Amino acid sequence: MFIIQDKLHGLQQQINQLCEKYKRDANSITLLAVSKKHNIASIQQAIDAGQQDFGESYLQEALIKINHFTNLNYHLNWHFIGPIQSNKTKQLANNFSWIHSVDRLTIAERLNNQRCPNLPALNICIQVNIDNEPQKAGVSLEALTTLATSIQQLPRLSLRGLMAIPKAIASVKQQRDSFKRLHDAANALQLTTLSMGMSNDIEAAIAEGATIIRLGTAIFGARNDNE
Ligand SMILES: *Cc1c(COP(=O)(O)O)cnc(C)c1O
Repeated sequence: MFIIQDKLHGLQQQINQLCEKYKRDANSITLLAVSKKHNIASIQQAIDAGQQDFGESYLQEALIKINHFTNLNYHLNWHFIGPIQSNKTKQLANNFSWIHSVDRLTIAERLNNQRCPNLPALNICIQVNIDNEPQKAGVSLEALTTLATSIQQLPRLSLRGLMAIPKAIASVKQQRDSFKRLHDAANALQLTTLSMGMSNDIEAAIAEGATIIRLGTAIFGARNDNE
């Protein structure tokens, strides 16, 4: 019954311990509960345990959940972390408070133009293909500065930081190399949000300055892909 609550509690303790180890302030790290392919009852349990930040990757599925909890008067922070199709930008712009996966200017411009004027600026992270993997989304480090500078001109967007999904590798040292490159790139742009770190690389991410850790399976269990 209280499994999700216990998982969240355990993960927060793990984050706190890693923060002590690497001399980080635990309050500087947000645990983002990635709820894609998990149902409303599971999200409700996480909310009851105090969780307020949720990550989703599929728009239609996310809208059902967002509407459900908005109608119940919950004030949650919904983060979109999935691939962005340009015909979906209007709904993305007006239903989420964060978008982590912006990797091209045309998408940023559409989000900027479509964000409703009575909402605060939409928080943006640029997704960086930090290990130059051909199959992965994200802008290259070489093209990052140009994209970031252009996004900073868009008044309805607030460029907060960078997001990356590094290469799946076992060694903490190699994981740290990728995260350090992302941190250096964010520093050079004076951006303070680093959305990096998933269940298999939490330690390396915290060691290198992550401010948003994205965890799904570790909180909610295995995803049901037919749901
Ligand atoms: C699904 C997803 C996660 C969470 O993955 P888990 O393996 O369930 O922890 C994190 N980040 C992104 C971008 C994702 O798409």
